[in-house]
Amino acid sequence: MLTVQPSVVARRWGGCCGLLLMLLCLTASAAATGQADSPECPSEKLLVTISVLQAGQGDAILVRCPDMKTQTLIDAGESNERYPNAEDLFFNALLSRMGADRTLELAINTHPHQDHLFNFVAMTDAEKGKRSLRIERYIDNGADDPASQLEERIRTQILASGGIPEVAPPGASRITLCPGDGASAVVLTLFAPLPEWNARLGCPGNLNDCSLVSRLEVGTFSMLLLGDALEGWEAVALADAEGRDLLRPATILKPGHHGAASTGIALLNAAQPRAIVLTTGEPGKGTTALYAFPEVQAVDRMLAYLRDSAPSEITAQRVLQACEKRDQNCDWQQRPVPAQLLSTAIDGSVDIAVHPNVACIKNDRGSSVLVTHE
Ligand SMILES: [Zn+2]
Repeated sequence: MLTVQPSVVARRWGGCCGLLLMLLCLTASAAATGQADSPECPSEKLLVTISVLQAGQGDAILVRCPDMKTQTLIDAGESNERYPNAEDLFFNALLSRMGADRTLELAINTHPHQDHLFNFVAMTDAEKGKRSLRIERYIDNGADDPASQLEERIRTQILASGGIPEVAPPGASRITLCPGDGASAVVLTLFAPLPEWNARLGCPGNLNDCSLVSRLEVGTFSMLLLGDALEGWEAVALADAEGRDLLRPATILKPGHHGAASTGIALLNAAQPRAIVLTTGEPGKGTTALYAFPEVQAVDRMLAYLRDSAPSEITAQRVLQACEKRDQNCDWQQRPVPAQLLSTAIDGSVDIAVHPNVACIKNDRGSSVLVTHE
């Protein structure tokens, strides 16, 4: 496995020696360029919008078809009890983007940990008023978390409101999210571990590695959403033809498990992402203090991969904090990151507008970056 030492990465970021000077260089550069360097998103045909919502240290990904008639949510973020204000962060980000009909045609829970499903409870409870949404179809992996026991309650509430809860079958299921011709249909390939993987992954008990993962495609664009899958899942998936097919090159990667020590070099070489979006909380806050994501080894691998694959396009813009040794006394390290490496911790919610040849990735701070796909 490739491990990039911090000093090697620091040397790659053009001329600033020492962390303090490096940060001063970044600050001066950001002040000088501001948002003026951010490219405009194209006005050509919009194929789909994918929003990686700020939800504390948790996952919540909203997919909207151009006509806003079909909206899909993959995971629903974290509780206030475990991350300060996580519920408001999630609902504000979600409801400000949803259409007026307040219906999710499809909702998916990758696995039943609280940072991925907590807000499905309020969304499917008719008495929750403005936080109550209609979910027509709900797919999970059939597992329950003995610690929270929320999954069964959510399934029951969905049934009571006229929705249909389902369990994803093993392997790949293709779901058309937005109809269209060959170049404009948006298709989600939802993937549950194959039965022959279960012994190696410890499924169904090992909730993270039994996550539902998915690949979203439209035209030549694709995005991999890896739930909380860890390095064990990556090894098993890459050793199997069906797993390799799922992990073939993709435009954008949402790594597994909030940038934990997974996302190995083998995965990066298979997926060949041009941009990466991490779902992480702010260092020291709530569950981020407890679990300390992302890990610096994983972030350094991602930085090295992006830098090596497109050196002329990659310049440092912002500083991301990553944990050197994951425990409650984590030593947080500063890493300058380019526009192509995003994190909900520093970017807020991230909106990806997909056009026929380019994806425009915008953060909550008004900055954007264009990523081509062909
Ligand atoms: Zn998680």
